[in-house]
Amino acid sequence: MKMMRAVVVERPLVFSVKQVPVPATPRDGLLVKVLACGLCGSDLRTLRSGHKNITFPWTLGHEICGTIEEIGDACTSPWHVGDRLAIGPLAYCGTCEFCTSGRHELCENQKELGQHWPGGLAEYVAIPAECVKLGNIQLVPEGMKDTHAAVIEPISSCVHAQEKARVSLGDTVVVFGAGPIGCIHVALAKARGAFRVYLIDIDGNRLAMADAFNPDGTINSAVQDPVEAVRKLTGGKGAEVIIVATPAPIAAVQAVEMAKKGGRIVQFGGLPHHDSKPGIDMNLVHYRGLTIIGTSTFNPRHNRTAMQLVQTGLVPADKFITHVFSLDDFEEGANLALVGKVLKGVYVP
Ligand SMILES: [Zn+2]
Ligand SMILES: [Zn+2]
Repeated sequence: MKMMRAVVVERPLVFSVKQVPVPATPRDGLLVKVLACGLCGSDLRTLRSGHKNITFPWTLGHEICGTIEEIGDACTSPWHVGDRLAIGPLAYCGTCEFCTSGRHELCENQKELGQHWPGGLAEYVAIPAECVKLGNIQLVPEGMKDTHAAVIEPISSCVHAQEKARVSLGDTVVVFGAGPIGCIHVALAKARGAFRVYLIDIDGNRLAMADAFNPDGTINSAVQDPVEAVRKLTGGKGAEVIIVATPAPIAAVQAVEMAKKGGRIVQFGGLPHHDSKPGIDMNLVHYRGLTIIGTSTFNPRHNRTAMQLVQTGLVPADKFITHVFSLDDFEEGANLALVGKVLKGVYVP
């Protein structure tokens, strides 16, 4: 049996690189040799406390760039052995009410590589037919780095969110959360024409790391009331769009309070299950004509736009990826990420 190295998570906070069998090529899917795989915020949550869809031991990783090693006999993919792919992990059923109306992000039967199938923090990953079928896999343009192609996925969700929020020319945008997602939102809001983008976090270190994305101002909400700060920065009016990319419940409350009349609030981050009713003042929503927008995941169209954003440099993947680790150093890298020392880490087998 052919063996490979893979990250195996035994239980929360217990993980290592082990020898495991190379997965079989799915009859109607692909076997991919991994070139780079990102470690996502959701992976960190699973490393910390498990996940409802995952039974340990398990291999995570859904931000994948790799080359096709083998194509299944019954696979109808348009690609060839050796092609380099950026692999979006979401698989949609294609037949539910939402898929058939083009809103794949709301698919009733959505599955994800790294959750429903073993992930890409390994030398090889099997790509099932469900992932091949609906267009979240793209050929990587020549000249693009493997590590850059691996981070198309998190950018796709941000593209979806800002499309829903209609971030537009001249807007003032506030982003809560200076993590990797918050940084993408800053770059993307500017690309969409926002004149001013402010970034809020409770952690000064994270705000310093996010400086590379040139926010027009940062607000440390541990030392400053963010609502007051935004009102001051906007001549008392508030911001057109507020993107909440943090699980902190208080951020949702503050986002509503700092919105300009007619403003849009995007809840991008999920809240802890036991603390997901943060006490928003709905009278502000009513009298100021605010819109609260929910969003998660993305559809293939957003995935394609994300690729172009990286290719054009409008979202600077080189600034976003702060660490490239060898897969053998996964323990070191993941432990650094778990204590917030890594903006985005990508692993190379
Ligand atoms: Zn991800
Ligand atoms: Zn569906």
